[in-house]
Amino acid sequence: MLGTLGVIWGVIAIDLRQDHQRALRDAEIQTANLAGAFGETVSGSIALLDQALEHVRDVYLRDPAHFTLQNWFHDKTVLREISVQLAVVDASGLTLTTTTANAPANVSVADREHFKVQVNAAEDRLFVSRPVVGRASGKLAIQFTRRMTWPDGRFAGIVVASLDPHVLGVFRESERADRGFAVLIGRDGIIRAARPDVGLIGGDVAAVPDLRLAPVFDDGQGDGTATEAGPNAIVSYRDVPGYPLFVAVGVSRRAAFASYDQARRDSLLAGLCLSLIVLLVGFMTLRQWLRLTRFHRALTVTLNNISQGIMMVDARRRMPVVNRRVAELLGLPPEIARSGGGFDDFLRWQQEHDEFRHDPRVAAMIAAGGIDPALAHYERTRADGTVLEVHTSVLPDGGAVRTFTDVTERKRIEREMAQARDAAEAGIRARTEFLAVMGHEIRTPINGIVGAAGLLAEMRLNAEQQDYVRVIRDSSEHLSSLIQNVLDFSLLDAGRLELDDVAFDPAALIGGTIAMLLDQARAKGLILVAETAPDLPARISGDPARLRQILVNLIGNGIKFTETGGVTVTARMHAAEPGTAMLEVSVGDTGIGIDPDNAGRLFSAFTQVDGSKSRRFDGSGLGLAICRHLVTLMGGTIEVESTPGRGSVFGFSARLKLLPAEPARAATPVPAPSTSRPLRVLLAEDNPTNRHVATRMLTRMGHRVDQVEDGARAVVAASIADYDVILMDVMMPDVDGLAATRMIRAGTPPRSRAWIVGLTANSQASDREACEAAGMDDFVTKPVTMERLRAVLEHNGPRAAGTGHPVGHPVEAPADVTEVLDTGFLASLAGDIGGEGVVEMLRIFLEDAPSHMMAIRHAMTSGAIQTVRREAHALAGAASTVGLTRLGRLAAALQKASEGTGPAAEVVEMLAEALRESLPLAAAWADAHDVTTAPSNA
Ligand code: ADP
Repeated sequence: MLGTLGVIWGVIAIDLRQDHQRALRDAEIQTANLAGAFGETVSGSIALLDQALEHVRDVYLRDPAHFTLQNWFHDKTVLREISVQLAVVDASGLTLTTTTANAPANVSVADREHFKVQVNAAEDRLFVSRPVVGRASGKLAIQFTRRMTWPDGRFAGIVVASLDPHVLGVFRESERADRGFAVLIGRDGIIRAARPDVGLIGGDVAAVPDLRLAPVFDDGQGDGTATEAGPNAIVSYRDVPGYPLFVAVGVSRRAAFASYDQARRDSLLAGLCLSLIVLLVGFMTLRQWLRLTRFHRALTVTLNNISQGIMMVDARRRMPVVNRRVAELLGLPPEIARSGGGFDDFLRWQQEHDEFRHDPRVAAMIAAGGIDPALAHYERTRADGTVLEVHTSVLPDGGAVRTFTDVTERKRIEREMAQARDAAEAGIRARTEFLAVMGHEIRTPINGIVGAAGLLAEMRLNAEQQDYVRVIRDSSEHLSSLIQNVLDFSLLDAGRLELDDVAFDPAALIGGTIAMLLDQARAKGLILVAETAPDLPARISGDPARLRQILVNLIGNGIKFTETGGVTVTARMHAAEPGTAMLEVSVGDTGIGIDPDNAGRLFSAFTQVDGSKSRRFDGSGLGLAICRHLVTLMGGTIEVESTPGRGSVFGFSARLKLLPAEPARAATPVPAPSTSRPLRVLLAEDNPTNRHVATRMLTRMGHRVDQVEDGARAVVAASIADYDVILMDVMMPDVDGLAATRMIRAGTPPRSRAWIVGLTANSQASDREACEAAGMDDFVTKPVTMERLRAVLEHNGPRAAGTGHPVGHPVEAPADVTEVLDTGFLASLAGDIGGEGVVEMLRIFLEDAPSHMMAIRHAMTSGAIQTVRREAHALAGAASTVGLTRLGRLAAALQKASEGTGPAAEVVEMLAEALRESLPLAAAWADAHDVTTAPSNA
């Protein structure tokens, strides 16, 4: 800004200076010219005057006596015009004659300088006096004198011409006084004439400041011409040639510089305006600059004080912005992580220090240039353990903005939270486990009660006693169902309930459930009917047991809360996504109904509409909550519409898989064993109890049975004999059933194509899939019963139609066996294989079981988990075969635990406890049914 001002004022100054010089030069030229002209004029006038003097002198000297000037020039206007008076003065100084009419005679001028100068003059020279007051005229005049000399050389006197000084100054008469002046000066420095006359005439030039150069001309030296700028005027001097005179013509500075002054005023004004503009612009620029500086400083402070590292890379791969945190977080030297540094230097440093050794993906990206939109966000761990979160925003010009955040702490918290969550989940699992175990624990005494009541019922009792027994049975069954509800709910609540996926007939399921509850309804005098849509598919896939549980709950509630009328069940189905269908069931009753205010809470756990302690209806308040959970698991919904006093309608839906009506077996057709002839059966089973039972059942059916006790022997047997059916226990030591099946199938046909039926303790989908994958044709869930065996051997169901029987259609085990010793099961088994067979089987078990328990305990202390698993499996299989349900379950649980996290000592203790309570019961049953030792009371 100052520079701009300097330039402006410099230009103005130079311009003005030039103007000034031009004006000065013009004035000098003008005055010089005028001085020249003035000098010429004066010189000419004086020459004329001098001629007149010389002429008068000549005439006088020729005849002095008759000479008079009285009539001379009388008519000469010229003399009048120039106001000249001529006079002749004698040697004594007396004026003899003058041209002035009536001038006084004999006026003496002897004392005057112009006379005295000529008296002693050595040569004839014109003398020009100072302006003096004429004695004859009485006016101010300049006296021009010449000496007169007689022919003998004596002084004859002088001729005088008196001239009004103003006449000489007529030059430039027209000029205005303020613009200029013209002065005639004698070499003595005395001003002879001046125009305008401002009192200068007769004065000394030394007193006139503007005529400073005049002294130079005093002595007649110099070149006769000069010009000088005085304080007020510019003055040019010039000699009057031939006379002791010079002229000076001046022009006032004001006049000379008038236009320059105007120009200077204009320039100064312009300069001032420009300066103001420059100052204004400068001020605004300065203000803007200050604002920018402040902003920049604030930005820098902000960037350097945020917890994140931030940097910008421009298109030329330089880093215009890098805050302090970058160096701190990345452990970079400040000269590398600095604003203005090179991005490539930055990356090189990191590579050289092996920063990305933990993350090859990032290393590759860095090696490829360090900016990749595909890897705009990543986390990496530095050598010191710091975890950095790196975000990159790629800019349109190819540059990028990258931020680095230290997430070490966050990661630590996340880890801790995950651990806490795991711990919480483990807690929930433990709670569920605990509930399950407790459920079993509670059921144990109940089973005891039920078992004892069952045994009691078989004795001879009077009517009252039978009544008590019935009350005991009903109460304990009710208690048992409550516990089952609590268990189911805890499993559902923990998300640990797995749904089954098996084929079933929905109409049959509903019909079966209705049949089950019919007695209950009839007992209350209620009607119970079902209406199923005719187009309901015959085969769908889902979890029929859980569907039945929902139906039992809703229909049961309907019966419970209805006094007159009845319960109606309707079912229909409509297609949903390809391959699936929604089953829609509604259960309507004509009961007490539900207050609309309470309807919303019904599906929450532990909710009962009548919450009073003296309520009429028992229940846990869990039934509908379980239904809602199950329905949700099945991809459906449940809702209620109700009018108090008129009844309720509960509707639910469930998504089920549609199955082809006629499932085709694509595999190699296997000759189905026919039951019209005795079959040759190979039984591979490691558990002697189970082997015994199954063998008895098979021989009772008229089949021929070969027994082997492990998978390896089964493979050998299957390769040397033609078996119609191989019954293969899935879990056996060394070579298990699945491996044995695979080996048999890998052999040569037709023996390799034998009909293989798996015997498994579990009916889970995964087990069925494993059987199918190993190449089994069918499987039976343990405990094996005559009925189930017959079913697989006779191939009833789809197989009977000759289309094959897909694996995955197990003959279901009873849903819930609730007794320590399932006497009902033993009774039916006795029907199948005969009472003595069951007794023998029980005896074998009683002998066998303690050794399994001992082996488990021993293996537990030595940490031989595989042995625990094997022994537990053996015990589980044997226990369920002899109807010791609880023992079987606990042993199965121990087996399962041995496959996973490892068995818990408590489970072993529970198992031992269960065995302790089971053995006497089993022994008691055996004793009671052993025809050889005890009298039968049945
Ligand atoms: P609970 O096992 O106690 O019956 P539910 O969850 O099955 O528990 O039912 C919760 C409550 O909903 C019942 O206590 C009853 O008050 C009400 N409720 C259920 N079904 C009906 C119905 N069909 N008619 C009237 N009230 C019903």
